[in-house]
Amino acid sequence: MASELAVTLTSRRDRSKPKNWQMATVTEVIVETPETSTLRLALVESDGFLPGQYYNIRIPVEGRPRPIQRAYSVGSSPIPDASVIDVGVRETPGGLVSPVLVRQVAPGDLLEVRGPYGNFTWTERDGGPVFLIGAGSGVVPLMSMIRYQAHKGSAQPMHLLFSSKSQEFAIYAQELAALEAKYQWLTVSHTFTRDPHDERARFHRRIDKEMIAEVHSELQARVAFICGPPEVVESAEEILCDLGMPPEQVKTEKYD
Ligand SMILES: Cc1cc2nc3c(=O)[nH]c(=O)nc-3n(C[C@H](O)[C@H](O)[C@H](O)COP(=O)(O)OP(=O)(O)OC[C@H]3O[C@@H](n4cnc5c(N)ncnc54)[C@H](O)[C@@H]3O)c2cc1C
Repeated sequence: MASELAVTLTSRRDRSKPKNWQMATVTEVIVETPETSTLRLALVESDGFLPGQYYNIRIPVEGRPRPIQRAYSVGSSPIPDASVIDVGVRETPGGLVSPVLVRQVAPGDLLEVRGPYGNFTWTERDGGPVFLIGAGSGVVPLMSMIRYQAHKGSAQPMHLLFSSKSQEFAIYAQELAALEAKYQWLTVSHTFTRDPHDERARFHRRIDKEMIAEVHSELQARVAFICGPPEVVESAEEILCDLGMPPEQVKTEKYD
């Protein structure tokens, strides 16, 4: 445990240190949903990362003089091994980078990556109860926090409110169900925006004030993490602050 903590703290201390691009090897591609894949990357160099951080990935794009760079959150836990990272990529139709990562990258390929970056992080030192709100691929860094706590053996109450189009598009749905069954500290509430009948979801609409208030009153969250498209993040942040959460306890990551 001591070395695990050391890795985590190294990452916290060195956030401002310049980082180098490195060639990571794609060791596995896991199809999560029809539009999202996990790329498992073996890094050459790793100083660790904190749950919730992201890496930049850049790829050559035809007709562009320089490689095009995008940010992708790490969905895996930094323990037991921070030198292997899982990034979760959802295909944005017409995009320059994500369709290539989701449709064309294969095991054995090399990808240029740099990181980790970001202050959207949680460890047990940040306390709880923890309200995690994710929409679409916004669940990726929240999954890192959940997996980290599972590995770490701490037990801060966590409630994930997760918006997807339907069960088929809910990233990590099976693993989340298994983790929820295994750990008392985890509750997952799905909301499906395009499937009004699936009983695996607690809600069947976009994330709104009533939904957040309902979960918040059960959880009595002390810290919240919201991730996804900017409009979802901004609205959920405003709602939580209206419900009385101190703004400094509400952390956000916008995928714009
Ligand atoms: C901190 C951070 C973490 C992130 N983590 C993740 C993650 O874990 N998973 C994930 O899936 N995403 C994540 N993202 C989003 C990701 O970085 C990319 O923005 C996303 O994958 C889209 O990139 P792209 O190159 O495929 O699309 P882009 O090329 O950026 O295009 C985006 C959209 O704009 C349209 N478009 C592009 N150019 C034009 C134009 N000239 N005129 C009109 N329309 C245009 C495209 O058709 C497309 O619909 C994260 C973003 C941030 C900031």
